[in-house]
Amino acid sequence: MVITDSALQASAPHERQGLIRRRMVGQVCLVLLMITIVMSGFFFTNWNQQALLDLREGGRQVRIAQEALMDAEAYVLNKSLGDHAVEHSTYSRALEALHSRDTQFTKLDRFLRAPDGTRRSAVAIVKALETSWTDVLAVARDGRLDEAQVMLRERGNAAQVAGLRAAFDRFLVEWNSQFASYETRIEIGKVFVLLSELVIGAVMIFAFRAGARDARARQAAIAQMDESRTQVGHLFEMTDMLQSAADRHDANAVLRATAGQLIGGFGGALYVFNNSRDRLILSTSWACEDADALPETITVNQCWAMKRGKPHINRSGGRALCCEHHASAAAALEIPMMARGENLGLLQIFAHGAEAEERLSRILSLSSALGDAMSLALSNIALREKLRNQALRDPLTGLYNRRYMEDSLDRYVRLAEREGRKVSVIMIDLDHFKRLNDEHGHATGDAVLREAAAAIVGTLRETDVACRYGGEEMIVFLPDCDLDDAAVKAEQIRERIEALSGAHGAQVSASLGVSSVPATSSNSADLVKAADTALYRAKHNGRNQVALAPLRSGWRGPTDGLDQGAGPLAIAAE
Ligand code: GH3
Ligand code: MG
Ligand code: MG
Repeated sequence: MVITDSALQASAPHERQGLIRRRMVGQVCLVLLMITIVMSGFFFTNWNQQALLDLREGGRQVRIAQEALMDAEAYVLNKSLGDHAVEHSTYSRALEALHSRDTQFTKLDRFLRAPDGTRRSAVAIVKALETSWTDVLAVARDGRLDEAQVMLRERGNAAQVAGLRAAFDRFLVEWNSQFASYETRIEIGKVFVLLSELVIGAVMIFAFRAGARDARARQAAIAQMDESRTQVGHLFEMTDMLQSAADRHDANAVLRATAGQLIGGFGGALYVFNNSRDRLILSTSWACEDADALPETITVNQCWAMKRGKPHINRSGGRALCCEHHASAAAALEIPMMARGENLGLLQIFAHGAEAEERLSRILSLSSALGDAMSLALSNIALREKLRNQALRDPLTGLYNRRYMEDSLDRYVRLAEREGRKVSVIMIDLDHFKRLNDEHGHATGDAVLREAAAAIVGTLRETDVACRYGGEEMIVFLPDCDLDDAAVKAEQIRERIEALSGAHGAQVSASLGVSSVPATSSNSADLVKAADTALYRAKHNGRNQVALAPLRSGWRGPTDGLDQGAGPLAIAAE
């Protein structure tokens, strides 16, 4: 099986380990096969070389036997002719050589061609010749040279020697051809070994390079695993920190810190839905080169990621499918943030420079994990806020409840005293509400209460606090607001409540009592009591009007301009 590098890179870490192991086993098998082939070639060549040596030695021995035969025959011929100069030692050496070469003579048997068709072995012929030569030499030694020559002729010694020589010649012809074939085989073997060595060298180089690649891939996988472990560690740490985040401000700080560790080198911004959930508000941003280009608000319709509910990349230069809100020169990865089935906001990650989009694509899963952790934290914070609100707010009107009022009013007043500032209170009671309930039903009564509460909140500043004091009574704290301004605010509230009359076909109005620290009261208990007393006076004087608590004795505060008792709806302090 061929395992390519691209297959290695595309596979998951555990699959990659399996592929690398299989590739190694394949390479080892290939190398073993190549070694076997080279060894076979080597043994083949070696065996042929040995055979060639044996053949060469065999040929040499045959030649020695041939020479010994010639020498012995020459000696006998010379003796039979009376030549005494020839040495007997030559004959005895030749006979000794002939005796010890039975093996060589046996090889001649195949090549012997007897003229009479009889089949005799070469060894037998040599033995017969030797017997004959012994007889001839004995006769020649007696001086009977003619008789010796006749014996030689009659016994056909010359013909037998010629037969043996012819056999020797044929043997040598075949020997020569065998010699050539062995040499050819040895050459083939050498070439085969050389080629195998070249192939094995190439395979070894390939295996080495593949091994180096595997090692690099393993190192990269280990580095990737280490990096992933660190990232998971950061994410765990982030989740842990987010659980302790008391509010969005804390959560944003954790997000900025974790983003710096996890995806350093990238800028980012977080948008969260406003209370009415009609737009996303910039909650925090970090490492943004052109932070000025970040819009303060984004609507869902301006954002492809929010519309599709999927991550989206806005390419730098505002090319295809770019969100309307994207004004930055950077490329931006936009991740919609979901938790518990609710859309909570938008996480943006920015990248500048070359390959910005590719770099953003690479950190998509990491950024999504960051967004998920943050979504869950925001959802938890919202849930905690909701629970807290449920404990502090009145369910019918949405105003803070009496418990909250009692807990916080004292704090407000002390803070105002310490900082030399003013705080005022307006106590509001709906007029003849029992009658309204009786005549128009409890449901209408509830609706009027809700609308009156909304009318009150609608006239207040963000720092003002409205509470349901009990039944159809409500109380408002106005920090940094003196008695005059509180009286004006109370009159506005009265008008707005009165304006509800038309909607329900019933007369709706309220009486209001106003008090203030330090103008009318010195502490929180006095303040509420003074407002309550003023309210009682407003009721007593005919309802649907504002009454102010009397100024404290010796108080020289600026109350000029206050229409104390001047208008039809304002009751002077008594
Ligand atoms: P006054 O002008 O003197 O304030 O007369 P009133 O009828 O408003 O005063 P009273 O204290 O006699 O009656 C208050 C009524 O408010 C009694 C109760 O039925 C009604 N009320 C109190 N809480 C609620 C509420 O949550 N919903 C409704 N529909 N009525 C409520
Ligand atoms: Mg009432
Ligand atoms: Mg009442």
